[in-house]
Amino acid sequence: MTIELPVEAVSGKPLIDPFGRAIAYLRVSVTDRCDFRCVYCMSEDMTFLPKRDLLTLEELDRLCSVFVDHGVRKLRITGGEPLVRRDIMTLFRSLSRHLASGALEELTVTTNGSQLARYAAELADCGVRRVNVSMDTLDPDKFRAITRWGDLDKVIRGIDAAQAAGLSVKINAVALKGVNEDEIEPMLEWAHGRGMDLTLIEVMPLGEIEPDRIDQFLPLSRVRASLLDRYTLEDLPDRTGGPARYVRVKETGGRLGFITPMTHNFCESCNRVRLTCTGTLYMCLGQEDAADLRTPLRASEGNERVSQAIADAIARKPKGHDFVIDRGRNRPAVGRHMSVTGG
Ligand code: SAM
Ligand code: SF4
Repeated sequence: MTIELPVEAVSGKPLIDPFGRAIAYLRVSVTDRCDFRCVYCMSEDMTFLPKRDLLTLEELDRLCSVFVDHGVRKLRITGGEPLVRRDIMTLFRSLSRHLASGALEELTVTTNGSQLARYAAELADCGVRRVNVSMDTLDPDKFRAITRWGDLDKVIRGIDAAQAAGLSVKINAVALKGVNEDEIEPMLEWAHGRGMDLTLIEVMPLGEIEPDRIDQFLPLSRVRASLLDRYTLEDLPDRTGGPARYVRVKETGGRLGFITPMTHNFCESCNRVRLTCTGTLYMCLGQEDAADLRTPLRASEGNERVSQAIADAIARKPKGHDFVIDRGRNRPAVGRHMSVTGG
């Protein structure tokens, strides 16, 4: 049951969900489009949203600013590939005012790195301090196969540019059975050798794709066990409130994260919600329930209605997801792809 509060009672109030979790983190998918077609993320012939359905950059800024007004302290710009959206730097530039005012603690981006060489310096100039770059292999041929046509060299040049601009880079790699399973150690050595954290992600059942996900799924418990043959992994206290559990690899001195939605449910500490490029708010990555923020946003110039819609949505944030990947289940847990909700 949702309790309707008078408008003046919700504007600017912190967002606390029914389980007492404070929502301080918003991930914003600024486009569902991408210049890659990673095999676990998209099908080869994706149909993308018509451009007219997208929120404008000004509308995205306005919505993000309402969330900041409600106590959101961290914004992550993602997609699709956020850096392929036209004029995207305008959004970073305008959002940076919240960093300058101190209202926002962090503005970050998750990218496939293909456009990073072009934008790294400008991102740094807009106050971005950290970027996540998704890269699942160090082998150019494998990279092309996973992304369906991506150029690894371009991504590496993007990482070089990011580091040269002073950005701290974290590498995200989806662990794929029989694909990059044998590369975890080289990737760890490479990332830590360059002063970058590495986070491994279990593949999640989001959206229809051509391959069977059971064939891609590699439990990270297995990866961790095999790393223990060569490395000493020291558990680190959770500092992000996010889904990753971190260890310090004693031999390299670097940090290694595990995101294990399939083998370990992390929902109890979830502090985030996700906004799509059409203004739909998903309160959980793994559930269908969503709130339309575009209609209240466009209904008036003031932000009261959208504030109310956000408060109503947070009041029904679910306790968690229930992902399952098995042979008997041939449909994904949710129909939308990760590129829609924003990874
Ligand atoms: N295009 C950007 C990128 O690749 O970093 C941002 C969006 S992408 C959807 C965000 C993250 O989601 C990437 O690290 C990607 O590897 C991950 N991802 C996509 N589909 C996934 C799935 N089905 N299961 C687990 N991770 C997935
Ligand atoms: Fe594009 Fe990122 Fe999805 Fe790969 S994971 S297809 S780069 S959105």
